[in-house]
Amino acid sequence: MQVEHKAVRYLRLRVRHDGQTRVSAPLRVSQAEVRAFLDERADWIQRQQQRLAATPRSAGFALADGECLPFAGGPLTLCVSEGRPACWREADTLQLRVPAAHDVAARRECLLGWYRAQLAEVLEQRMPHWAAHMGLALPEWHIRNMATRWGSCNPTRGRINIALRLMAQPSACLDYVIVHELAHLRVAGHNPAFWETVAGAMPEWRSAHDHLRTGSGEPGLWR
Ligand SMILES: [Zn+2]
Repeated sequence: MQVEHKAVRYLRLRVRHDGQTRVSAPLRVSQAEVRAFLDERADWIQRQQQRLAATPRSAGFALADGECLPFAGGPLTLCVSEGRPACWREADTLQLRVPAAHDVAARRECLLGWYRAQLAEVLEQRMPHWAAHMGLALPEWHIRNMATRWGSCNPTRGRINIALRLMAQPSACLDYVIVHELAHLRVAGHNPAFWETVAGAMPEWRSAHDHLRTGSGEPGLWR
C-alpha cells in the first residue's frame, strides 16, 4: 500500500488495476488517522480487490466504448453496440456488437477472434510471399496466443507459430517475424549465418527487430 501526503483536502483511496491500494492524504493528517480511515474501509477494499482479481484477463483494457485498441501499428477506436456477437472494422473504428450481458472476458473473446481472422488473412499472403522469396517450401503455420514470444519454429516438423499479438504491430514487424522464423528452417540458432539469411531476405530487418524489442506487447489485451 502506498500513502502519499500532498496538498489535497480530503483523504482519498484508490484500488489500482493490480489490486494495490493508494491513499492520498492531506499534509496535516497523521499516520494513525490514515490507518483508521483504511480500517473502516477494509471490507470495501477487499471487495474491490476481489472484483479486479475476477477479471485479470483484460487488466488495463476495459474494452469499453471509445477505448483505443492497437492494430497494425495504429490505434482503432472501439465502438461497442448491443446485439448478436459480431466484430468488424469501419475506417478507424473497430465495431464490437455484443449482448448486454457480455462481460470483459466475453468481449475479449469476440475481439481476439477478429484479430485472429485478420492475422490469418495477412499470413495467407505474406507467408507464401516470403517463403518463395527465400527459396523455401511453404511451411505449415499456426497462430498462437503467445505471451512471451513473437514467433517460433520447429525445423524438424517444418512448422511455424506466429503470435496473435503481432497483429497489433506495424506490418514491417510482422514481415520480419515471418522472415525470422522462415530463416530458422535453414539455420537453427541465432549465429552469424542465421542473421545473414535474415538480412539477405530483408535488408531492413533491424528496425523491425528493435521495434519489437522495445515496443509494448499490450499484454492486457491478449492474456
Ligand atoms: Zn529466432
